[in-house]
Amino acid sequence: MDWTWDLSYLYQDFDDPKLQEDLARLPALIEEGRQLLEAGGDPKALLEAAIDHSERLSALFDRLGSMAGLTLEVDAENERAAALLDRLNVIENDASLLSSALTRYVGGLDNLEEIIAGSEKLQTVAFALREMKETAAHTIPAEIEPWILKMTLSGGNAFSQLRDKLDSTHTVPFRGEELPLAAVRGKAYDPDPDVRREAYEAEIAAYAKIELPMSYCLNSIKQEARTLAEARGYASVLDMTLHQSRMDRETLDAMWTACREYLPHFRRYLKAKAALLGHQNGLPFYDLFAPVGESVHVYTVEEARATLLREMGKFTPAMAEFMDHAFANRWIDMFPRAGKAGGAFCSSVHYADRSLVMTNFQGSFSDVSTLAHELGHAWHNRCMAGLPYMLCDEPMPLAETASIFNETMLSHQIRSSCAPEEELNLLENNLMEATQTVVDIYSRFLFEQEVVDTRADHAMTVEELKAAMLRAQDAAYGDGLDPDCRHPYMWACKSHYYSSGYNFYNFPYAFGLLFGKGVFAQWLKQGDAFVPVYCQLLRRCGSDSVAGVAASIGIDVRSADFWRSSLEIIRQDIDRFVQLAEKH
Ligand SMILES: [Zn+2]
Repeated sequence: MDWTWDLSYLYQDFDDPKLQEDLARLPALIEEGRQLLEAGGDPKALLEAAIDHSERLSALFDRLGSMAGLTLEVDAENERAAALLDRLNVIENDASLLSSALTRYVGGLDNLEEIIAGSEKLQTVAFALREMKETAAHTIPAEIEPWILKMTLSGGNAFSQLRDKLDSTHTVPFRGEELPLAAVRGKAYDPDPDVRREAYEAEIAAYAKIELPMSYCLNSIKQEARTLAEARGYASVLDMTLHQSRMDRETLDAMWTACREYLPHFRRYLKAKAALLGHQNGLPFYDLFAPVGESVHVYTVEEARATLLREMGKFTPAMAEFMDHAFANRWIDMFPRAGKAGGAFCSSVHYADRSLVMTNFQGSFSDVSTLAHELGHAWHNRCMAGLPYMLCDEPMPLAETASIFNETMLSHQIRSSCAPEEELNLLENNLMEATQTVVDIYSRFLFEQEVVDTRADHAMTVEELKAAMLRAQDAAYGDGLDPDCRHPYMWACKSHYYSSGYNFYNFPYAFGLLFGKGVFAQWLKQGDAFVPVYCQLLRRCGSDSVAGVAASIGIDVRSADFWRSSLEIIRQDIDRFVQLAEKH
C-alpha cells in the first residue's frame, strides 16, 4: 500500500497543460467579475450572475491553491509549487478587492429582501447575501482599500514573517548541541524529568535573546489590528473578531463564566499530576506535558484503521465506510519523511467532494486519535458536499465540531475496555489537552486583551509583556502551577498572537472543544436518532450564526448552563484521574 496521498486528480503534475490554462484564466475571470459589477443593470440578474461568477472563481482557486499548498506541505523544497503559491497570493489580493466590491454593492441595495424573495437561486445563498449586507457597513472605503491591503504586506504580514523567521532559525544550546527552538520545546514530552527541566531552562534563556524583536512584532501587529478595527468601524478588536466569527458577546461571556467556575477542578488535576511526579507546590511549567502512566500498545496503520472502523462504526456504519474509503483511496499522507511538515491537518477540495489528510503517524494511541480527529474534519466536509462555496465557510468556533466529536467518541469507546494503567495514560492525554484548550487558552485570551487595550496608550516593553503573561497565567492556573516556575515568554512562543488578520485566535479553540463535547453528550442521550440531526448540524455550519447553528439542535450557547454541562464531562474525567493517581 502506498501511504502517500494522491493529488493527481487535481493535476497530473506542474507541467500539466490544464494547470497553465487554469492559472491564465484566473486574472481574466477576476476582470470579468469587475466588469460585471461596473456594468450594473437589473439587481436580480446582476446578483445571480455575480453568484455564479464567484462560485467559478472559488472552484478555480480551490483547485490551483490545493495543488500548490498541499504539495508544499509534504515537499517543502518544491520550487514549482512555491512559485505557483506566490503567484496565487498576488492574484488573491485582486480577488479580495472584487469580493469587497460585491459586498459594497449588496450593502447599497435597500430592497435586498425583495430581490432574494424573487429568485430561487438567490434564496439558496440568502444567508451569504444578508451577511454581505451587514458586513458592508464594515468595509474600508473603496478609494483606500487597495493601499491598505498593500501596506499590510509590509506591516502586519511582514512582522508576522519576521516572527516566524526568528522562531524557526533561532538555535538553543542544549547538552552540548545546538538545537532548533522547536526541538527543545518538544522535550517537554520527554519521559526523563531532568531532560524536561533542562530543556525548559534552555528555552527560557533562548527567548531572552530574541525578546526585543519579538516584542516589536507583537506590538506592531496588535497596533495594526486596532487601526483596522477602527477603519472598519468596530468598537474594538474583540468586536471585529466576534463579528468575523459570527459570534456574540453574550455567548463568549457565558462560555468564560462557566470556564472560570471549573478552573478549581483543573487545578485539582494539575496538583494530582504534580504529586504523581513528586512535586509539593503545584506543577512546574516544564512538567505540564510530562507523560504519566503507560501507553502499552503500538499500532500499525492497519490496526489503527481497524480500530477506527470498529469504534467509529458504532456511531453509524456510514462513518466506518467513509473512513475505509479514505484509507483505500489515498486521501491520507501517513508517515513522516524528509521535507514534510510536522503536525496534522485536513484540507477540503470542495469541488471534487474530497478531503486530504496529512499526518505523521508513529503508532501511539495519540496518533490514532489524530486520525479520528482529521477524518472528523473530512466527514464534516462530506456533509457539506454540493453546497455553494459561499455556504461552506464555517466560522472558527464551529470548525472543530466534528473533529472533537470523533476524538471524544474514540476515547470514550476505548476507555470503556482498557486496563487501569492504560486508562491513567489515556485520561492524562485527554486532560492535558483539555487543560491547554480551556485553562491555557483562557490565559492567552486575558493576555491578548491586555496587550490590545494597553496598545491604545503605548507599546508594551518586554518587562511589561512578561509581567502581563505571568498575571494571566496566575488568573488561569492559580495554585495548579508552581508559582516559582511559570513561563513568562509564552507570548513569544505561540504563533497565534502573530497571525496578522486573525486576532484573539484563542477562544475559538475553547469553544470548539466544549461545543464538540456538548454535541457528543447529545448523542449519548439520543442514540441513533441523533445521527441525521448531527449531519444536518454539520451541513449548516456555514449558513447561520454560531448561536443559530447550535439552536438548530436545541443547544443555547448563550446560556452558561450549556457550557457547564460540557465542562461536567471533563470534571468526571478529572475525578477519575485523581482517584487513580491517589491509588498509585
Ligand atoms: Zn482540527
